[in-house]
Amino acid sequence: MESDVLILGSGPAGYTAAIYAARAGRSVKLIAGPQPGGQLTITSTVENYPGFAAGISGPELMDQMGAQVLKYGVTIVQDVICSVDFSAGPPQCIGESGVIYTGKSIIIATGATARWLGIPGEKEYRGSGVSACATCDGFFFRNKSVAVVGGGNSAVEEAIFLTNFAQSVTLIHRRNTLAAEKLLQKRLQDNPRIHCLWNTVVTDILGDGLKVKTLLLKNIDDDSISEIAVDGVFVAIGHSPATSAFTGALELDKNGGIVTFAGTSTSVPGIFAAGDVCDDVYKQAITAAAQGCMAALDADKFLSTNI
Ligand code: NDP
Repeated sequence: MESDVLILGSGPAGYTAAIYAARAGRSVKLIAGPQPGGQLTITSTVENYPGFAAGISGPELMDQMGAQVLKYGVTIVQDVICSVDFSAGPPQCIGESGVIYTGKSIIIATGATARWLGIPGEKEYRGSGVSACATCDGFFFRNKSVAVVGGGNSAVEEAIFLTNFAQSVTLIHRRNTLAAEKLLQKRLQDNPRIHCLWNTVVTDILGDGLKVKTLLLKNIDDDSISEIAVDGVFVAIGHSPATSAFTGALELDKNGGIVTFAGTSTSVPGIFAAGDVCDDVYKQAITAAAQGCMAALDADKFLSTNI
């Protein structure tokens, strides 16, 4: 059955859109996507989401949002949208299950997925020492040596989190300054188990066929090559918008993000976007939630005016 508002994605943007659209009296169906609850389900403590003075775990925050969504009668479907047809007639979103979902309006909040380095050994040892999620895999590195690649909030948070398990953590960054929040940088500097390698890139991940053993490094100032022994490497170099299903159907920017105009409108009337799928600037849980709210208000207005 066609719902008034079909929402794709179950992170802060999708859930907030669902709450607002349902409370506006619209019938709402939400397709949860490949990672129900989104990226926050694989983070540890969230300390900057207002309303939780003591912090809250990412999974708990998303459980709470999901419960709030269900309270307003939203139908949550466990499926992943793999293609869409917005060319004519009611917009269609095709799920991996084969089900075709339609909505009088659609809010795309599919978020973003972890970026990889694309270097030799990375794919081969994924799950055997290479990871993009310290919260998921940190536990396996008790008393081991690990490296984290990146210089943003994610890399610094992951490095700090990994000291709960690992004996030593080497943060490898291609610049000599970090982009992470000052508070996180201070925690990193104060942590005796973390050591930083600046102006350095990882060129190869080597192992014994079963597990990661060594990283080959290049100093980008003088091109010198070195290596370090590690048991694991965590890649934390940002995320790419999850838009593969929308290629050709919506205008995308050069990074693959959905282009929005005048609030949350996309290049197709009645289709709106919110959160990391269209935001290359702020990328915070709270801004994704705010954009979800905006998208629901925009969709509600579209339905009142056009349907
Ligand atoms: P960012 O885009 O902020 O940072 C990515 C980092 O990875 C940069 O230091 C970048 O370096 C480096 N990098 C990118 N590509 C490569 C590459 N190919 N090889 C080596 N290094 C590379 O991503 P994050 O995931 O850290 O953060 C994403 C967003 O989520 C941010 O807005 C952040 O604020 C937010 N966030 C907030 C948190 C919080 O509030 N606690 C926690 C986690 C994330 P360079 O600068 O050279 O490109």
